[in-house]
Amino acid sequence: MTHDWKAIDAAVCVEPGKKSKLSARDCDGAELFPEREAAEAALKDCAKAIDELQDRLWAERSRALLVILQGIDTSGKDGTVRGVFNKCGPLGVNVAAFGKPSEEELAHDYLWRVHMATPKKGMIGVFNRSHYEDVLVVKVRALAPADVVERRYDQINAFEKHLTENGVTVLKFMLHISKDEQRQRLQERLDQPEKNWKFNPGDLEDRKLWDQYQVAYETLLDRCSTAHAPWRVIPADKKWRRNAIIAAIVHGTLEEMNPRYPVVDWKAGDFVVE
Ligand code: AMP
Ligand code: MG
Repeated sequence: MTHDWKAIDAAVCVEPGKKSKLSARDCDGAELFPEREAAEAALKDCAKAIDELQDRLWAERSRALLVILQGIDTSGKDGTVRGVFNKCGPLGVNVAAFGKPSEEELAHDYLWRVHMATPKKGMIGVFNRSHYEDVLVVKVRALAPADVVERRYDQINAFEKHLTENGVTVLKFMLHISKDEQRQRLQERLDQPEKNWKFNPGDLEDRKLWDQYQVAYETLLDRCSTAHAPWRVIPADKKWRRNAIIAAIVHGTLEEMNPRYPVVDWKAGDFVVE
């Protein structure tokens, strides 16, 4: 690998205990992967390496990786899944998307559906939206009383601590796009027939609440970037750069986890294949 993933990671990580200063964070990130060609080459290498490491993770069967993707409409959550995990065998990666809760889900506590979707040992789990919607849309649209939402930050930190102490490494990425980039992407959904299906008039309603969403994001970044599960704010105006950055961090993290093939207690000579 030619890139320095630690330096990239340090640039996007929200230091636990510090203010995230979301509005001062760049949506472009040009200094991280200045050139498109190099970014695309890095993405390709990382995606392949992630697949190899996932194979070892499965063989080892003792730990899991959970990748949480959050971001406003059009920020590229689906595109990230496709771009970063497209070399992975379908057996090893589970993607869960969280939409409006069903009646059954609402009948439980808000973490119930989330906990059920966490990856089992040996797997990579990817969340397209997550429990953070319960302090985002729920807060902005006042779907629950303010004091109920207020208690959730600590509950989420405790939940993620529980996961990490039980063998699940948690990586959280906020896809950070500018308001202007969102306008362009929504316009493309209106203008391009093959993107029409992605258009949801509700997204325009959420766009009107842009500032409130930014504040809600800033609050969760300030309060839920912890030592056990820090947040990364990913410059996401350029899709190719966003994918390269996330793939670099996923790859680096898996390499640090260093899953190993189990050592067996027999020798090939002990058996005969008839
Ligand atoms: P999409 O990701 O485009 O399929 O949209 C999913 C929708 O579900 C988004 O508008 C989310 O805000 C909404 N959503 C996700 N989680 C929740 C939740 N816990 N409560 C209310 N709405 C939610
Ligand atoms: Mg929406």
